[in-house]
Formats: sequence, structure tokens, C-alpha cells
Amino acid sequence: MRAVIMHAPGDVRVEDVERPTIVEPTDAVIRVTAACICGSDLWPYRGAEPLSRPTRMGHEYIGVVDQVGAGVRDLQVGDFVVGSFVASDNTCEICRAGYQSRCVHQVMMGSVGTQADYARIPLADGTLVKVTGDPTAAQTRSLLAASDVLGTGWFAAVAAEAGPGKTVAVVGDGAVGLLGILAARRLGAERVIAMSRHANRQALARRFGATDVIEERGDPGVERIKELTNGYGAHSTIEAVGTQEAMLQAVHATRPGGHVGFVGVSHGVELDGLELFFSSVHLHGGPAPVRRFLPELVELIMTDQIDPGAVFDLELPIEDAAEGYRAMDERRATKVLLTL
Ligand SMILES: [Zn+2]
Repeated sequence: MRAVIMHAPGDVRVEDVERPTIVEPTDAVIRVTAACICGSDLWPYRGAEPLSRPTRMGHEYIGVVDQVGAGVRDLQVGDFVVGSFVASDNTCEICRAGYQSRCVHQVMMGSVGTQADYARIPLADGTLVKVTGDPTAAQTRSLLAASDVLGTGWFAAVAAEAGPGKTVAVVGDGAVGLLGILAARRLGAERVIAMSRHANRQALARRFGATDVIEERGDPGVERIKELTNGYGAHSTIEAVGTQEAMLQAVHATRPGGHVGFVGVSHGVELDGLELFFSSVHLHGGPAPVRRFLPELVELIMTDQIDPGAVFDLELPIEDAAEGYRAMDERRATKVLLTL
């Protein structure tokens, strides 16, 4: 079967690899019907994360169950499913508290590699959510978005306590930031301030419900947010980048007592303790427990209440994955969908 393999920074190839099989009785194997390239795949692509050997890529997926292990109870061959980027049992105390991305039995799907014709899904009953009905093409794209970027943006908005009467600032105009805007509005936020300098991303931000767009970043960006909030700062801030600049921008843009939901994978971020102490903000983030939100997100998508699939602005066959990585790296594309 075909699979995307990163050999070195900037070197992505599609190669023939062996089809996965059931290893544990709780596994399923799915035929992947669509996958995508994640902003976090760009860290190794840009050399910001070490690659010790050629590595299978991809952790977002939708597909059809092709095989189930003897211990799988809730899924059958032929089910159309979506799952998150972390396989989880959904039964341990961490999962039951809503933190499936830190399940005591977690398996990172990036270590499996879903940019491929087939993928082995560990802990299938806990990980996969069955989609009933016959999704349209638009719903299918949205379900794929739910696998990571929508679920991550949603968690960021929840962690930032976006809600009625709140002003939410969003640092980062990648797919997660954009879908954090959608989530904040769905959760009832009154005002959502997107920080973006790119015309097409600004347009998508407004489509997803941003009420204001500011182009400044760093300290000038923080000043603009304060101007828009009577000098107080945002109640809630979503940090969807993971750099020092973005994290500080988020902390500084948030009013005392406010909440920062940080979901950008942290790279080189260091916070000064005393500054944090006097900021008086709540910080909550980490790898998003997408599985917590998936049933609700699937329902919202299948009833056409949200259209997160609009975030995909480039669709390529998996053979052209290398071009997809280039397009995202050069910011020619916000989010790339790979068809199989
Ligand atoms: Zn668990």
C-alpha cells in the first residue's frame, strides 16, 4: 500500500509499504478514505524536530473499518469512522475525566502513520467514533477536520473558557486558530478577535465568526487587543502556534482572571515565573482530548450546523503529498487534504 514517509527535513516521499494487520485483539484496521497534513508535521519538515530515521507521517484520518480484532465489540467491518490523533481506551480515569489525549494506554497515531491507504487503530472501541448516515462531500471534509484541527480548536476554546459575554482573542491563523474561532462562536462568545496578516485567512476567520481582525503582532498586537477591550485585555485567549512570541502574546493579551487555552505544540517556550505570577491568568492546554468532543462534533457536522471542512484549501492525491508539504510550508495552503 502507499504511505507517506519523511526521510529528512524537506524530503517527503510516497512509498510502497506493507499493509498493517491486527496486532492486539483491541485493534481495528481501517481503509483510510482521506487524510491530511498537519501544521505539526511542519516541525520535522522544517528541521525543528529531529528525525532519526525515515518516518511514517500522518495522524488525522477518516475511513472505513476493514478488519477488527477479536476483542473489538462496538465496531464492525464496513463502519465509517473518525478518530482522534491519540488512540485511547476511553475507560481509564483520565479518559473518563475527559483527557483522552493523556490516556494511561495512549498511542500517538503519528507513530502509526495515517497518510496511507490503511492504518492500524489501537484501542479501536475507545478511539473510533462511528458516523451514521451517508455524509456529503462537504460533511466528509468536515469530519476529517474533526479528527484534529477542529477538535483541537474546540478544546482551545473550552480551555480558554470561551462563552457568552466573553471576548476571545486568537493567536495563530493556521487551521487550528481558525477553527478555534468557529468553536468560540459556537460556545457563545460575543466577540472574537483574530490575529492575522493574510487576506485569505482573514476572510476565512470572518467566515468562521471573527468579529474583528487585527494585523499587528507582538506588543503592538497586545496593545490593539487592549484598545478593543477598554484596556482590560481579552477574557479568553487561544494560543495556536507554540512559539515563545505567540505564548507571550497570548498571556499578555489576557486580562487578570482571564483564561489562556494553549494548543500550539510548544517549541522553545519559556515563561518567567514572576511575570506569570503577576499576570493572574489561568493557563490550560496541551494535546487536545479530541475524543471528548468527537460525538458532539460529528452531530454538529452531520446536521450541517458547522462547516469546518472549509479550512481545506488544497486537495491532492496522496501521490502528490510532497507538493502538499511544500504548499503548507510556504503558506500557500492553510490545510491540505490528501485523497486516497
Ligand atoms: Zn484512558
